[in-house]
Amino acid sequence: MTGFSSRVEAVSISGIREVFEAAGEDAINLGLGQPDFPTPDHAREAAIEAIQSGKVDAYTSNKGTLELREAIAEKHARDNDLDVDPEDIIATSGGSEALHIALEAHVDSAGHRPANERTQSESAGQEVIFPDPGFVSYDALTHLAGGTPKPVGLREDLTMAPEAVEEAITDDTAAFVVNSPANPTGAVQSPEDMREFARIADEHDVLCISDEVYEHQVFEGEHRSPAEFDESGNVVVVNACSKAYSMTGWRLGWVTGATDRIERMLRVHQYAQACASAPAQYAAEAALTGPQDPVAEMREAFQERRDILLSGFDEMGLECPTPKGAFYAMPKVPEGWVDEVIERGVVVVPGDAFGENGSGYARISYATDTETLREAIDIMADATAALR
Ligand code: PLP
Repeated sequence: MTGFSSRVEAVSISGIREVFEAAGEDAINLGLGQPDFPTPDHAREAAIEAIQSGKVDAYTSNKGTLELREAIAEKHARDNDLDVDPEDIIATSGGSEALHIALEAHVDSAGHRPANERTQSESAGQEVIFPDPGFVSYDALTHLAGGTPKPVGLREDLTMAPEAVEEAITDDTAAFVVNSPANPTGAVQSPEDMREFARIADEHDVLCISDEVYEHQVFEGEHRSPAEFDESGNVVVVNACSKAYSMTGWRLGWVTGATDRIERMLRVHQYAQACASAPAQYAAEAALTGPQDPVAEMREAFQERRDILLSGFDEMGLECPTPKGAFYAMPKVPEGWVDEVIERGVVVVPGDAFGENGSGYARISYATDTETLREAIDIMADATAALR
């Protein structure tokens, strides 16, 4: 069959799925990118109440209900010391859609660029810089927007150096993505880095997309947003309830940014999505305004598991940069390790699923209970020993 767009042909179905499918049914799954906790009861109840009262039977405003956007603005004041106007927020279908509309609205594809602005090559769309290894959607969504992915390697501790971003910027760069805490590395950028990212966005007049979906899972250091240091309106923030409140299935995220940028992103969202799911909007409002204990409880549980996993790697003799956030670890592994571990019944994801520089690493998600995690560590230790 033919007739597919070159943008979609440039993208393949995520390699992570293939790993799940290769493992047996009884395998321990350390491949998943979602918390293993229930959504807080008050969020569920708010959605049930909204459904029963008929409030969700109609479209909401394209940007989302005003009450939800006020709750998001309050969250940014509380957690990020940011003064965000509820009008400068779009509620989206998860952080994924927020990333999608940010790239669609800011990245020019080749065909749409005025000829005198095609400085690189006629066939290339504008460039988007992002971490390698990095979350799989950055590459795919750049292609889908008609842009050119420009992955940059990371420091030894798996953070992204602002200098590396600055060096990668050309006249063709539309945007760069910062992700802290990061998937797949668990790395947390320092406040100094975040200040630098804001400066770079300002000085080079490129967009900084800050993906902060793991902001509440920080064990060491602190989460700061480049938006705090933004003086030019060149930073947009992507966030979601997915990881913070264990609401991955609800599909509720958001994007905030300068009014003009929000207006452009709304053009994409309005035609592709109309509005985020109304029941999820009510659940998210309750999650954001209700008790925040579940967030702290999850963070404590993740930190305990991280420590168990790190001492396991230590005993196995595997080098692993200490993940300071999210719920992933990325040890350096010997050749054949991932296959050996999967064969023995533990699903992990090969690092190269996240970019070329991920090769020689594996991503381990510790979003699983401690007993299962210990069992998995024993299996990984056996696999490691078998390869020596
Ligand atoms: N950003 C990062 C770094 C992620 O890891 C994910 C999901 O795994 C997302 C964004 C998308 O989150 P959501 O489930 O809210 O679409």
